Amino acid sequence: MNPNYSKMLEKEIEQLEKSGTVPKLLLHSCCAPCSSYVMEYLREHFAITVFYYNPNITAGEEYRYRLAEEKRLIEAYNRQVDEQNFEGMHSTERARRIEILEAPYDPERYLSLVKGYEDCPEGGDRCGICFEMRLRATAEAARAGGFDLFTTTLTISPLKNAPRLNRIGESVGHEYGVRFLPSDFKKKNGYKRSIELSRQFDLYRQNFCGCAFSRRDAERREQKTEEGSALA
Ligand code: SF4
Repeated sequence: MNPNYSKMLEKEIEQLEKSGTVPKLLLHSCCAPCSSYVMEYLREHFAITVFYYNPNITAGEEYRYRLAEEKRLIEAYNRQVDEQNFEGMHSTERARRIEILEAPYDPERYLSLVKGYEDCPEGGDRCGICFEMRLRATAEAARAGGFDLFTTTLTISPLKNAPRLNRIGESVGHEYGVRFLPSDFKKKNGYKRSIELSRQFDLYRQNFCGCAFSRRDAERREQKTEEGSALA
């Protein structure tokens, strides 16, 4: 049986509350909607720097748009902190400002790593390679930047395997000597809250994960649905 990663995170936070420490957390983020709840939840307990490393978003325009949305959301959250003007859960005077660190955009690296896995279904081996690429880069940047911990927003997605992400995070964290913060952010209504926040901040919510292959599969699904409704 898999550990309860959501409970593990709660325990970590309880310990922090008791010790009164505020660790430096490098938070890998895939996009603004997924990070919305995660940042809202964690900003009271950690000094967060968002790490934007997503060379798996193979179309440059899409990549830049998602990055711009991420920055817009961080600015909005930081305004809340500066003005002490909060709305919603996990938003108290203890919330902290959030920084962002942009990694270079290198889709060629992603494409070379997943060569031969282009036709894997979403959730299969291609995604495992993609998770490891992003978590490894985050662990490396966390070590270089002297962060206490690192983690990723990816566990908020009901389509992504949280135990797999946690196992990869622990393993690369061990390799780089930086602790991985366990999570299953979709639990405790986290996913639901991310949808509410996306509406509140009018965030762009894409209908595919990120790579050209997930876009192709999403388009095929849409086409099938359209064909189905035309026949009905
Ligand atoms: S579907 Fe998403 S997680 Fe899987 S390889 Fe593509 S971008 Fe990465």
